[in-house]
Amino acid sequence: MATILTHPAVPLTIGVVLGRGVIPARLMEFGVLCAILPDADVAMFKLGVPYESIFGHRGFSHSILFALLVALAFRYGSKIGRERPWTTFLFLLFATISHGLLDALTNGGLGVGFFAPFSSHRYFFPAQWIEVSPIGAGFFSERGLAVLRSELLTVWLPCLLVALFGTALRINARGVKGSAEEGT
Ligand SMILES: [Zn+2]
Repeated sequence: MATILTHPAVPLTIGVVLGRGVIPARLMEFGVLCAILPDADVAMFKLGVPYESIFGHRGFSHSILFALLVALAFRYGSKIGRERPWTTFLFLLFATISHGLLDALTNGGLGVGFFAPFSSHRYFFPAQWIEVSPIGAGFFSERGLAVLRSELLTVWLPCLLVALFGTALRINARGVKGSAEEGT
């Protein structure tokens, strides 16, 4: 896995680029929760479920179906889902899927079961830029620092650039729209 500190980078970036008008703070909080939720499956180790099982780590909870179910649950089961149904569904769907996408870019562990429970195949992307994070207490070590350094360079830095560029485009588009309206 990438670390729990880094998975929120993707929904945070999307939220910053789209702005508070589209992704309000409350929805952003749900997005951050959805981005870290799949790793709750490490509890399966304690229950004796093996890593390679469909319901093991990086299995069903990292799948597209799981992301769909989570997004639907918030869409129909939360107040914000009633206020902004499509934005809530799409934002939380992508926030949850983004977890598996980042994990599939790491260089260790088993791959991601994107199609669980229909397929037990585990996937990695051809490029695996992110140093895999140790599971549990191993995070607080020299290796944990190396992982954070790797995530800063391969996730946070690109996200920061996207956030800056995207925000500049949004503000510029708003300025152009404002001037056009003034000109009418
Ligand atoms: Zn994970």
